[in-house]
Amino acid sequence: MLKGKSALITGSTSGIGLGIARALAGQGCNIMLNGLGDQLRIECLRSDLEEEFGVNVRYHGADMTRPVEIENLVEVTSAAFGGVDILVNNAGIQHTAKVEDFPQERWAAIIAINLSASFYTIHHAVPHMRRASWGRIINIASVHGLVASANKAAYVAAKHGLVGLTKVVALETAGSGITSNAICPGWTRTELIEPQIAARARELGVDIEAGGRSMLAEKQPSQQFVSIEQLGQLALFLCSSGADQITGTAIPIDGGWTAQ
Ligand code: NAD
Repeated sequence: MLKGKSALITGSTSGIGLGIARALAGQGCNIMLNGLGDQLRIECLRSDLEEEFGVNVRYHGADMTRPVEIENLVEVTSAAFGGVDILVNNAGIQHTAKVEDFPQERWAAIIAINLSASFYTIHHAVPHMRRASWGRIINIASVHGLVASANKAAYVAAKHGLVGLTKVVALETAGSGITSNAICPGWTRTELIEPQIAARARELGVDIEAGGRSMLAEKQPSQQFVSIEQLGQLALFLCSSGADQITGTAIPIDGGWTAQ
């Protein structure tokens, strides 16, 4: 379905980003990986993906807090693959604290990585998509792009901002062959939420699994984590021709969290 197309996926060295990379590569898409981590482990990931799916997989270590590196990431992707067909803005971090205790440095980092980085990637990638008269922008927002939770001032502000950015870009690109959508996952078991599960387990004096169940019970009516594979399938659908008229949306995949 995506043979010959290319996808740039930020924060794809683990978790949801890596799951989306696998889903797109499985349909023949060439992939630009990005993210932090041990260079040897990332090289193994890269070569394993190439081997498993028979596509071209590159890696660029741009730090999403640095606009110059983000510009270079987009340019290198375009030079490697002859364009940037699919852009998945996925890199993200979390910090939890009450607003009066929230460290200014964590606020700035979360806004930079979870929001501003997506502006920069989109800003540089849209001209490539316009030239191709086709493009898919998929912003990995969150249920926290639609509703709030306590102790997440920066994360909720950034994700609401990302949903707004998604809509503006959809209006500006409407009818051009480019679509812009946000995916809004609920709890998904990745490294990002492990500290929250551990904190909940400590608070209740229970083991990690019971800590996870308690978090689900509080927010996610299905009582089940969203899987990385389910997120990959949704991203894939947004890349299909069936989704040509889906633009400017924020799609919850949250076991009913935001229905409440
Ligand atoms: P994760 O920690 O596994 O992945 C985060 C990725 O971002 C990693 O690849 C990491 O290297 C990268 N990253 C972090 N800082 C970076 C930087 N400065 N520059 C470049 N890359 C950087 O966590 P995840 O859960 O897979 O998160 C992916 C996205 O999904 C995030 O935007 C997150 O907010 C969102 N999300 C996660 C959940 C969940 O429950 N896990 C729910 C809703 C939304």
